Amino acid sequence: MGILKGFKFPNYQITDHKISNSFDSHPTFCFPYCMELRKDPITRSWVITGDDVNEPAPRTQACRFCGPTAQPAQMIATVPGLDGGAWSARNVSDAEVERFLRLAAQRILDLKRDSRFKYVSIFKNQGEVAGQEFEHPTSQLTATTFVPRRVLYELRAGRDYFDAKERCVFCDILAQEERQGLRMLEIRGDYAAFCPYAPRVPYETWILPRSHESAFERTGSARVGSVTDLASLLQRTLQRIRTVTESFHLVLHTAPNNLHPSSSLGYWKTLDDDYHWHIEILPILEAKAKSYTFKEVYYSPVASETAVKRLRDAKI
Ligand SMILES: [Zn+2]
Ligand SMILES: [Zn+2]
Repeated sequence: MGILKGFKFPNYQITDHKISNSFDSHPTFCFPYCMELRKDPITRSWVITGDDVNEPAPRTQACRFCGPTAQPAQMIATVPGLDGGAWSARNVSDAEVERFLRLAAQRILDLKRDSRFKYVSIFKNQGEVAGQEFEHPTSQLTATTFVPRRVLYELRAGRDYFDAKERCVFCDILAQEERQGLRMLEIRGDYAAFCPYAPRVPYETWILPRSHESAFERTGSARVGSVTDLASLLQRTLQRIRTVTESFHLVLHTAPNNLHPSSSLGYWKTLDDDYHWHIEILPILEAKAKSYTFKEVYYSPVASETAVKRLRDAKI
């Protein structure tokens, strides 16, 4: 059974990517107006994509994060930088991102000791149109008494897939993406960045560990050497995305709190085997902010194969 499914229209060809043997049989885009209806293999949301094949206008304004610029540096965390100064988003070194990831992992672990919290994660809304709450963009740690809907969809889908195949759906998707190479952005050590098959917004990008791991906080606190690669890949991926837009949502999806298992919920038993933590980056294109949802059908005009080429070629 294939894992990446979609329909091309208006001619209604079915594209069904097989995990095992169809790595070279990807849909050919019928320039210029062919759209595809793709199904997210994890959450089963539908996405309409692929009708925007034009290059985005080059950004003429210098990136305020890359400097030199007259604008003040922006804080992206409330912890001090390595040198004791404020942590600036401009020219942030990989070591500082690594420090932030370790800090986040430590805080998530701490909060999960509290059985009231079913889910603990971090997110970041960068840019005014992304709903940035403060004058300075900040990363926020959230602890909730419920599991957010999107994560719940992923957990259930992960469990169902594991029930059927005894494999992790995220591992299978990543293996297929690595073999096909159509949507891979970059690999660094144990981490991969790619544009998902059924993106909810143009240039949506995911980062995940290539070795199976359900909980980010275990990666962030235990696997010393590899956090360096993750920090570097995250930093480089955000630099690429900033060549397209300054605004994005970044959200960490990690396993819910299973230090205190709930007997009423079914997904706990195989959770560590069937879920796989990842970072989702959802860029917001101001000029093309016509993404909308209609009963879980998303419209993302830039297909991931197009998006990944532009991001790969971005000068960072
Ligand atoms: Zn996995
Ligand atoms: Zn997710």
